[in-house]
Formats: sequence, structure tokens, C-alpha cells
Amino acid sequence: MGYDDQNIFAKILRGEIPCDKVFESEHALAFRDINPLAPVHVLVIPKGAYVSMDDFSANASDAEIADYIRALGTVARELDLQESGYRILANHGRDAHQEVPHLHIHLFGKRDMKGMLPKQA
Ligand code: 5GP
Repeated sequence: MGYDDQNIFAKILRGEIPCDKVFESEHALAFRDINPLAPVHVLVIPKGAYVSMDDFSANASDAEIADYIRALGTVARELDLQESGYRILANHGRDAHQEVPHLHIHLFGKRDMKGMLPKQA
């Protein structure tokens, strides 16, 4: 799947749409989800044009990958989640119901997140 530069996160990265930014580094941006599922629900995205973790893990540079992973940890610490705990989640493709085709890792905190996934029907 090619990268669609009209996706909503590409527009946020270009400053065409506002976001509630919590952190920025050379290769990453973190901002609050517009429809939060937890008291802390932040999206951490790479600044590069990567569709998903599949694309990013195959094609991003080592510098981008290192900066992105460090950004995730930094955001969690800056939001004071390291003691209470947090969950990170990235959806890729159809089965995971990925909605926005620009890699994003959800960072959830400040609630009990119960089990991993609902049991299969
Ligand atoms: P996905 O299902 O692709 O993993 O998650 C996409 C996420 O992006 C959803 O949690 C949704 O609420 C969030 N989202 C969609 N549009 C916007 C937007 O314009 N701004 C922000 N901050 N989040 C958005």
C-alpha cells in the first residue's frame, strides 16, 4: 500500500490541522487522541511518511527508529505513567481495523485496562 499524503496525520504534520501536542523530537510527534479511550490517550507518530509498523520497520532508517522508540518512552515518563503503568498499541491493516494510514502507536494510561483483548466469539 502506498502512502496517502492526504491522511489526517500527514495534515497534522504539515500544520494544516491543529493537534494537542505533548512532545516533539527530530523524527517523532506525540499528540492527544481526539476521541480518548483513557484519561491519557496519546498518539506517537513518526514524522516520516510510513503507512504502518510494517512499512516503518522495513524502510525507516536506524536513526528514525531509535528516535521514535525513545520518544515513546520519553512521552510515557513525561506523563508520569512509568509507576502506574501504560499500554501501547499499534494497529496494522484490515484485521486490526487501522483507520489512519500513517503509523501511530497509541499510548494509554491512568485507567485499569483489564485484559489484553476481548475473547474471540
Ligand atoms: P487507528 O484505528 O487507526 O489505530 O486509530 C486512529 C486514531 O486516530 C483513533 O483513535 C482516532 O480517534 C484518532 N484520530 C482520528 N482523527 C484524528 C484527528 O484529527 N486528531 C487526533 N488528535 N486524533 C484523531
